[in-house]
Parts: sequence; structure tokens; C-alpha cells
Amino acid sequence: MRLQVIGDPVLHSKSPILHGAMLRELGLDIPYDAHVVRRGELPEYLTWARDNGVTGFNATMPHKEDLIPLLDRIDPAARTIGAVNTVCLRDGDWVGFNTDGAGAVAALRDGLGLDPSGLTVTLLGAGGAAKAVALALAEAGAERVFVCNRTLSRAEELCAHDPAGRLSPSGFDPDTLSRCAARSRLLVNCTNLGMAGCPGQFEEFSFLDALPPDAGVFDLIYHPAETELLTQARRRGLNTLNGLPMLVNQAVLALEHFLNRPLNRPAMAEAATAALNQM
Ligand code: NAP
Repeated sequence: MRLQVIGDPVLHSKSPILHGAMLRELGLDIPYDAHVVRRGELPEYLTWARDNGVTGFNATMPHKEDLIPLLDRIDPAARTIGAVNTVCLRDGDWVGFNTDGAGAVAALRDGLGLDPSGLTVTLLGAGGAAKAVALALAEAGAERVFVCNRTLSRAEELCAHDPAGRLSPSGFDPDTLSRCAARSRLLVNCTNLGMAGCPGQFEEFSFLDALPPDAGVFDLIYHPAETELLTQARRRGLNTLNGLPMLVNQAVLALEHFLNRPLNRPAMAEAATAALNQM
């Protein structure tokens, strides 16, 4: 048995640290390494992986969508999202899953004490991460998710994937953000704004003033550990959470797929978080 994370670039990935720590905690001597696979090289990789004892892998940029037509089976949630981040060999078939959305919901429950059921949420962004999180929130019973994106057509396209109609496409201008925030208990940033190495930043933060005082603000970004959005939210007395617990939880859920059995999730998350903190 051998596990990997594939992508390009991939050598900066934290997955080997997270999975290495969890496998050690379980007393399992299973190697997990990072493997560079360039765009267009997935068919060759799948053959190589099968021939070299790889029984599971995580996928990052640029492969999450490109893998879909190449796999034998796709979990329904991953099919709806249109992207996989976890692939396992099961009875000779490559099976794809997406643990990002469920990882985000688990992080919200653990880190902010918020259950999505019945919540109204303002979600910023309509890219790959936004799609996984918005659909997971809807699946977990959120009452309404305002999907606010700079490019409105992308928000409309994302919201069309929710058959229950709980996702509402919205604009990204300050007035719209404030109107959505005023109705929300939770604001989730799924854009790149504020990420280290990314030039963009929010032009202003007045939408945070519209949130109720007991609202939570969850930023998917974990580098830096506190984005300007989270700093501004904390200064306003709002509850804040960065993207690290989501990263950890999506890895715990991926490992359950790799090993094909339930794990002690809190113990796994603790081992993975401790390994990250030692870096
Ligand atoms: P993506 O597909 O490229 O989407 C980027 C989103 O950001 C789009 O909605 C884009 O809007 C918006 N955006 C970019 N620049 C903007 C600007 N200047 N003003 C307004 N909106 C802007 O990226 P992704 O894969 O979804 O990732 C998004 C973030 O989530 C990244 O920071 C990533 O690190 C983080 N993430 C974290 C985890 C975790 O485990 N914690 C997992 C996955 C992703 P347009 O549609 O208008 O271009």
C-alpha cells in the first residue's frame, strides 16, 4: 500500500505532513509522498500508480476537475461539485471523492460551534472551493446561502447546481455584501483575497458591520494565519476561524476513504494539527 498527493506544483503541499502524522498515530507504516504530475499526464499517472502499488492519492491543482472523466466511479457529492480531491483504488476501480466541503462543515462545527442547519450564510467567491463549500452547506441544511461573486455569471452557474434552490447568486459590491451580511449568521471567504502571494485585497470591510454581533467569519485561507478580513472581524468582536481546521478535516476524511474505515476523527485532527504546528 502506498499513498500520494499529486499536482503541479505539489512539493509545497502540506498533505504529506498531515497524512504522515495521522498514519504514525495509527501505527501504520504506509508511505505517503508528493508526486509531480503535469497537466495532461493523468492517464499515464493512473497506469503508473496501479503498477507501483499506489492505492490512493489526493489531487490538487491542476487536476481536481480533469480527473473526473478518467475515473471508474465518482461519489455523487464529488460529481455535483465537478471536482475530486481524493481517489482510492477499490476492487480494481479508481473511485473519486471530494472531502473539501465536508471538511469545511466539520471545521465550522468544531471551530465556531456553528451547525449549518437552518443558517443563512454569506459566501464570498464562486471558484472551486466556493462550490464545494456552498453545496456542502446546502446539503447540511443551510436555509439560504448568498453566493457573492465579482463575476456574477459564475455565481449563477454555481447556484444552478443546487436542486433545492437554497443558493442565491449575488453581486460583490459593498451595498450587496452588506445587505446579504445583515441577514447572515455566518460569512465565509472563499476568494483569494488576502492570501499570501496574491495581489488582491478587499477594498473595504463595511459589510462586516452589517453582520449580527454573534456572527462567525470563516476564511478558507490559512496563510497568513490571520488575514486582514479576520483581523477586521476580530476587532469588531465577531468570532473568527481560519482555513487550517478545514485543511486538517478534509485530510482526516480523505484518510477514512483511503483506509476504507471510520477513524477517531478528533484524535486524527489533533495529531495532524500538532504536526503542522511543529513546522
Ligand atoms: P479559484 O477557483 O481560483 O476561485 C477564486 C475566487 O476568488 C473566484 O470567485 C474569484 O472571482 C475570486 N477573486 C479572485 N480575485 C478577486 C478580486 N480581486 N476581487 C474579487 N474576487 C476575486 O480558487 P479556489 O480554488 O476556489 O480557492 C480559493 C481560496 O480558497 C484560496 O485562497 C485557497 O487557498 C483557499 N482554499 C482553502 C482550502 C482549505 O482547506 N482551507 C481548500 C481549498 C481552497 P471571479 O470568479 O470573479 O474571478
